[in-house]
Amino acid sequence: MKKGINTICTHEGDIKDEQFKGAVSPLYMSTSYAFEDVEVKRYPRYFNTPNQVALSQKIAALEHAGAAMIFGSGMAAISTALLAFLRAGDHIVLQKSLYGGTYNFVNEEFSKYGIEYSFTEGLEPEDFETKIKGNTKVIFVETPSNPLLTITDLSAISKIAKKHGLVSMIDNTFASPVNQNPIDFGIDIIIHSATKYMGGHSDICAGAVASTEENMDRIFQLAKNLGGSLSDYTVWLLERSIKTMGIRVKAQNNNAQHMAEFLEGHSEIDKVYYPGLPNHPGHELAKSQMRGFGGMLSFELNPKYDASLFQKALQLIKPSMSLAGVESTVLSPAQTSHALIGAEERKNQGITDGLIRFSVGIEEPEDLIADIEHALAQVRSPSIVNVQ
Ligand SMILES: *Cc1c(COP(=O)(O)O)cnc(C)c1O
Repeated sequence: MKKGINTICTHEGDIKDEQFKGAVSPLYMSTSYAFEDVEVKRYPRYFNTPNQVALSQKIAALEHAGAAMIFGSGMAAISTALLAFLRAGDHIVLQKSLYGGTYNFVNEEFSKYGIEYSFTEGLEPEDFETKIKGNTKVIFVETPSNPLLTITDLSAISKIAKKHGLVSMIDNTFASPVNQNPIDFGIDIIIHSATKYMGGHSDICAGAVASTEENMDRIFQLAKNLGGSLSDYTVWLLERSIKTMGIRVKAQNNNAQHMAEFLEGHSEIDKVYYPGLPNHPGHELAKSQMRGFGGMLSFELNPKYDASLFQKALQLIKPSMSLAGVESTVLSPAQTSHALIGAEERKNQGITDGLIRFSVGIEEPEDLIADIEHALAQVRSPSIVNVQ
């Protein structure tokens, strides 16, 4: 029976408590399990404890995949998936404007393993295809992207990958499985930082990968050696978090649309980047491959105002590094997530100093608007700023 998103979130993969009939999956903290037969050797680093298996089943169902694995962080998931499909002498094509950690992993580590890489110049399918070489093995995209919420054409990318015999991978963190299922568009491997929408409460660091059983077996063969598994206690907490992911993300979609429209109509905001706005260059594409436009947006404060003062003057919305929690947060990519890539590369990616990334939470939109209006009033007359 095909189930809807909130039913999968709530029930898929539940471990039945046969002993006490408790409402939720029991937590098995054992790192040692008696052999049932020679084939099953349960061990946390083999990604096969009862709680890991149960949650993997939920994540696979959420991504319409055959199998899934849970990792200790989003970067553990990304690095393991990439290295499972690349070896010395291979080449990978990556989308420009990726999550900063992925960009750093590729730039700082790949040359040590003799893996060649190219970043695209643009985001059109041709931009990917022109970078493909004889030794290219993987194509890697992120849509919507961080922090400018650009949209990449999933069907076109999967067609290019199939034509050239490549494995296609996506970082699906910003969309979450609630808004986008890339497997339905032919993408092979789906990666999440579960620290974000899957966790949703800014208290779990985790990652996930979903794909076919065959691809997941290949990833497992490397993952057991690299050892990036997640503690069962955190696996259990993540299962609890995902139960409400559907309703959280839908609330965040609605709030983000509301905030994007408010900011767009504001005379002191120069630009708003949100795929749910009809004037966003990726709007039509987003409509064709996403069920909702997500809870992330970015905006540019008019340069005559001080962007860091604006962030300090906010009282409800917190300036903070991470994203996707139930609480609204903002950050300056130039000062934080994209600080390490350097001014030149930031300019190349269109990330200005006045750009503010806004992770919209589940608060009442009227309260978020009031907070932004109050902060704008403060930066308009900086002499009377009363930063609390
Ligand atoms: C946070 C994030 C990551 C990295 O995840 P961690 O859990 O911090 O390792 C990767 N991709 C995107 C889009 C992210 O937002």
